[in-house]
Amino acid sequence: MADPRDPRPLIGEPLSLDLLNTRWNGGTVQDLLTRQDGYRIWLSSAGLAERCPADDAGLAATTAARDALADLVRAAEEQRTPDPGALNDVLAHGRLRRTLTAAGPVETVEVDSPGWLAAWLAADDYLSLLRQGAHRIKRCAHENCILHFFDTSQNGRRRWCSMAVCGNRAKAARHYEKTAR
Ligand SMILES: [Zn+2]
Repeated sequence: MADPRDPRPLIGEPLSLDLLNTRWNGGTVQDLLTRQDGYRIWLSSAGLAERCPADDAGLAATTAARDALADLVRAAEEQRTPDPGALNDVLAHGRLRRTLTAAGPVETVEVDSPGWLAAWLAADDYLSLLRQGAHRIKRCAHENCILHFFDTSQNGRRRWCSMAVCGNRAKAARHYEKTAR
């Protein structure tokens, strides 16, 4: 459930893309993670508020993860060979521990310090998206939009962050072009 204070136009994408979507174009580029209170809102929307401290260390780690993800996604969009170094640096701060308990198998994420948890989970989520299909990671087709989404549509033809916002903006622009001629 998204935090009602969350000002972002697109929420609810998988965690790695949801982190990327803390930057959006609202005329100028907006950034939810410039301050601790914005970070707190993001953690709350992502369902991580109980597990991750909204402090400076956490914000720095999470911003580092976002930078790493942004570079990788941009490389893919520009069909360049990605440099996974920065993401691996984030992933090096945590690991998945598997144990068997009396109640059954349990997976626990262990991180060097609590501040790395959100960053590590977002980085790990990106690996999971790559396994599901890197081609489904898309940037909204509207030229002014910098939002990303994971295309889970059956035909793989989702083009917009949201039809209501960017889809209709594009349609209106086409209509305007046609009638202005
Ligand atoms: Zn869009």
